[in-house]
Amino acid sequence: MPQIIDGKAISAQIKDELKEKVGTLKEKGVRICLAVIQVGNDPASSVYVGNKKKACAYIGIESLAYELPEETTQEELLRLIGELNAKKEVNGILVQLPLPDHIDEGAVIRAIDPKKDVDGFHPQNVGALCIGQPGFVSCTPAGILQLLKRSGIEIAGKECVVIGRSNIVGKPMALLLLRENGTVTVTHSKTKDLKAVAKRADILVAAVGRPKMITRDYVKEGAVVIDVGIHRNENNKLCGDVDYDDVAPICSAITPVPGGVGPMTIAMLMYNCVEAGNIK
Ligand code: NDP
Repeated sequence: MPQIIDGKAISAQIKDELKEKVGTLKEKGVRICLAVIQVGNDPASSVYVGNKKKACAYIGIESLAYELPEETTQEELLRLIGELNAKKEVNGILVQLPLPDHIDEGAVIRAIDPKKDVDGFHPQNVGALCIGQPGFVSCTPAGILQLLKRSGIEIAGKECVVIGRSNIVGKPMALLLLRENGTVTVTHSKTKDLKAVAKRADILVAAVGRPKMITRDYVKEGAVVIDVGIHRNENNKLCGDVDYDDVAPICSAITPVPGGVGPMTIAMLMYNCVEAGNIK
């Protein structure tokens, strides 16, 4: 049987470490504050925002909630971000995505002070990751790295294949694995013979956004399989990009859905907030 990588337990451990750190900072008079902006009331976004507020409360991070109406203009949103950038007591700014169609997401991300960009989406932070400088790293790939490290999985020298090249998962994941001295291949919808490429992987990260697409035909015997996907199947049950029942028997370690990568994203957001609180 493979090692089941327990994202629930690892994320809880990280949150407890952060809680302790925030407690120590508080004794020194340092408070940490995250501003969370939501535009419109998309139900999924409301759930994510609610979970982020809950995690902040658990760790001892103050959270400021800005719930703006759907018809908020880009100028109004940029003005609010400008005000929060200027506020010393606000350490992190998070704008919940997706935004309504009339707002340019790129312009909003670029408006956030890179030192408060706890999502790690600002081009300055992405560039820093690319050239190996300190900066905020996108939370989902940062969480995957923690899952691997805390499960004792060696990355250096390993063949790593990332399926998906999005700006928030695939690309930063590839850069992080490269930083850890993996030999990295990034694949996408135009990749030829994806099964053969994926089968080279010692560590396979599936961030493809297609329910249960990754069957054992894509997986080398003994590989570590990380499933980033989150979908609801026909019975309203959660599933990933990986066909877990098919793949688990042949791999050495695997993340389940739910309880694998999912809980790590918020834990790493909290990590980034605490880091933001330490920036002078
Ligand atoms: P995107 O839709 O932005 O990117 C999907 C990527 O997969 C693209 O690069 C696309 O290629 C590639 N792709 C799509 N179809 C194929 C195919 N048939 N063969 C090969 N490559 C393909 O998704 P995200 O990166 O945002 O998210 C990926 C998954 O992870 C989703 O299920 C999402 O819900 C989940 N997710 C989970 C998070 C968590 O906290 N656990 C956080 C973020 C996302 P191309 O570029 O050529 O179009």
